[in-house]
Amino acid sequence: MTKFEALGLKQSLLNAISDLGFESPSEVQEKAIPILLESETDLVALAQTGTGKTAAFGFPLIQKIDSESRTTQGLILSPTRELCLQITNELTLYSKYEKGVNVVAIYGGASITDQARQIKRGAQIVVATPGRMKDMIGRGLVDISKIDYCVLDEADEMLNMGFMEDIKDILSNTPKEKSTWLFSATMPREVAVIAKKFMHSPQEITVGTKNSGATTVQHEYYVVGGRDRYPALKRLADTNPDIFSVIFCRTKRDTQKVAEKLIEDGYNAGALHGDLSQNQRDLVMNSFRKKQIQMLVATDVAARGIDVDDITHVINYQLPDEIETYTHRSGRTGRAGKSGISMVIVTRSELRKIKAIENKIQQDFISKKIPTGMEICEIQLYHLANKIKDTKVNEEVDNYLPAINDVLQGIDREELIKKIVSVEFTRFFNYYNKTKDLNTSDSGDRAERGRSRDGDSRIPADGNVRYFINVGEKDGYDWMSLKDFLRDTVNLGKDDIFKVDVKDSFSFFNTDAAATEAILKTFTEFKVDGRFVNVEVSKNPGGGGGGGRGRRDRSRSGGGRDSRDNDRNKGRRRDRSASKGSPSSSSGKRRTKRKSDFF
Ligand code: AMP
Repeated sequence: MTKFEALGLKQSLLNAISDLGFESPSEVQEKAIPILLESETDLVALAQTGTGKTAAFGFPLIQKIDSESRTTQGLILSPTRELCLQITNELTLYSKYEKGVNVVAIYGGASITDQARQIKRGAQIVVATPGRMKDMIGRGLVDISKIDYCVLDEADEMLNMGFMEDIKDILSNTPKEKSTWLFSATMPREVAVIAKKFMHSPQEITVGTKNSGATTVQHEYYVVGGRDRYPALKRLADTNPDIFSVIFCRTKRDTQKVAEKLIEDGYNAGALHGDLSQNQRDLVMNSFRKKQIQMLVATDVAARGIDVDDITHVINYQLPDEIETYTHRSGRTGRAGKSGISMVIVTRSELRKIKAIENKIQQDFISKKIPTGMEICEIQLYHLANKIKDTKVNEEVDNYLPAINDVLQGIDREELIKKIVSVEFTRFFNYYNKTKDLNTSDSGDRAERGRSRDGDSRIPADGNVRYFINVGEKDGYDWMSLKDFLRDTVNLGKDDIFKVDVKDSFSFFNTDAAATEAILKTFTEFKVDGRFVNVEVSKNPGGGGGGGRGRRDRSRSGGGRDSRDNDRNKGRRRDRSASKGSPSSSSGKRRTKRKSDFF
């Protein structure tokens, strides 16, 4: 007997499993399938994407439904169109030897009439996104009043995307005596509320660790003057050259304007909002998924459909009106077990909102400073040096080497390095040299309070030392693990390391000046896996830091290199790669007008 047979699955399903090449059940399948086959029970399963959860509910569902009846017996709700289609495809493969089983996908952005027609033909299993499902129920195009099974897949994601009310509405159209199977990677409070309200003594299974995603988002705020939001946004981007982010604005108009401005300034940006056609939105999302767009500027409603896992930063260009919305926004990062950063650009008058959000999310914010121009230059310089180091040599260059050697003859190594690095560095330096500090003082106690959460409130602001360390995300660190590594290695206390900013191949962190000696001593001739790990005191001791971890191996073509803060923007050359990777295009004339009315 194979392991799948032992779970109690019928022969036709075992044949499909064998065709699919599944050799043995995954952990979630081993745990869930027997429970779901043997009893009519509610189930809460904590399992991440990729654990085989679709099959864990799919096989029992197919085995249990009556294929002779055309009534809809199973409803699967999933957060996104992509996931909805993926589940439908999987279930269709699983049921290939079942006669008469129909699995129909219903989701937004496609013809509702076609979907209604498919349902009418008889669909025992409906896989739906909440928005479209609600719409179809409202129009009487689907009947879920007789379902026996309801699966809530990626429940945490659905709630993150703001589908709580839709789900409640949908569930109120289903019979009380059905079984509900809830699958979620994490168990935030909202999911627990759903489980409590709509489920009866559910059995629980866990694969991996509970709540693994919940604490992986670091929340940061930056206080600036109202007119400095845009330059601040650019500095945050320039501090994180590998950023892959969603930037939230409050209105469609602002969303479009910020995106256009970023594109003009040479960033790989795009806009996502409701005034775009479905086709335009699909194009933007495809570019974003392929990472051709690094900064996706979006409204809250449009961002509901974003199902991308490795977003490094969420930037709140403006805070939302509803605190609840902030939770949905920040939930776009720190997914699938990765860490992420949610940044908020605020004015002083909005600071009370930060407090309200902290209460709501039960997590503290860190008060951070917008990096100074010179800090950005330093980060860009290290980034560039690492990029050069990691660049794979193109052997074709060999053909041209003699001629190149002729040109560069007489320049020694050191000078050559300086020249190479200066090609890019000078652009940043010329731009940021002598730019103003964008930070608005954030009433002393608040700033201190913020620091205390990241580090130690006993440390005076000017007693901090900022360090550079030559390890970063590439070496497997994020801000949490690097903090742990430093703490353990130097034998420091829990709060002694703060303002940890992990970049691609290097990082920064701060300590109290009292710890400097111990740090530098520990990291003298210090090796990890045979490689020297160096720590140096950073040239920019301010340590404002842009926060964040960068993404690996991303290079932004032109991204921000020629970017200029607004006050210096007029009359300057536009970056050649400005509109690359974006659907927007703009004429110089319109640009001038937008600039004046927006800033
Ligand atoms: P899921 O977690 O449902 O998104 O599944 C992730 C992938 O694993 C899907 O492509 C499934 O086809 C595949 N898969 C599911 N169960 C198994 C299994 N027991 N053995 C091998 N692959 C599986």
